[in-house]
Amino acid sequence: MIEIRNISKTFHQKKQAFKALDQVSLNIDKGDIVGIIGFSGAGKSTLIRTVNLLERPDEGQIIINGKDFTQLSSKQLAEERKKIGMIFQHFNLLSSRTVFDNVALPLELDHSSKDQIKNKVNELLKIVGLEDKANDYPRSLSGGQKQRVAIARALANDPHLLLCDEATSALDPVTTQSILQLLKDINQRLGITILLITHEMEVIKSVCNHVAVIDKGKLLAKGTLSEIISNRENPVIQQFINSDVMTLPQELNNRLQKEPQDGLFPLVE
Ligand code: ADP
Repeated sequence: MIEIRNISKTFHQKKQAFKALDQVSLNIDKGDIVGIIGFSGAGKSTLIRTVNLLERPDEGQIIINGKDFTQLSSKQLAEERKKIGMIFQHFNLLSSRTVFDNVALPLELDHSSKDQIKNKVNELLKIVGLEDKANDYPRSLSGGQKQRVAIARALANDPHLLLCDEATSALDPVTTQSILQLLKDINQRLGITILLITHEMEVIKSVCNHVAVIDKGKLLAKGTLSEIISNRENPVIQQFINSDVMTLPQELNNRLQKEPQDGLFPLVE
């Protein structure tokens, strides 16, 4: 459904070139929840931003539902982007608008009727559990509630894909789990594919079916959670999982001990 093919991106700053992405390839199936993990500066945000061409790659292709995004005109791209929701670490809500009006924004931009907006926003607020907050302003909400508003807004145009950029990094562990549970529910109930980036293994373990590890702009490994965790060879991957292995579900721990796997996974099918 989403094919990221050999994407590279170099930024130029103060006469210096910096390769943020280097020949990254990744396939994401419809309905999957894929986590991209890596240290700060690894290139995760750049990768996620290239998926809806907020960053245009220098080379490579982004193919979503058979369409090559790198070849679309600005007008075509704007239409395709409506079907991709995005949520961010700091929620990006408009403080001068109520919860209702924040969620309504994409529908207003799309010239929906007042009735359509009312019905849709109420439906979305129900999905994220904020029916009683419609008239509140963001300043009176907790971090978790703000992220719920941002998720409702991201769902306004019935997206097929949700991109989450460190969506739980500003939240405490309990709120993080409740937001991840909401994302899981949305994935299961609405069939929306989710691509999320994080530097926390805990987030990956809670929701992701597949994982890609990125470091210094390169894709180090990709596979199922158990495949990635059982990779004992790569020091970068080990740094992520070392402190977490003991907290893995017992069943997975038992399997890993029975079926040790060595080496990296093939980077490109
Ligand atoms: P991550 O999300 O993994 O923390 P980013 O994708 O944000 O990493 O950044 C990767 C690298 O690219 C960093 O060194 C960052 O400074 C650089 N970078 C990202 N965006 C820009 C930009 N617009 N201009 C210059 N450098 C950038």
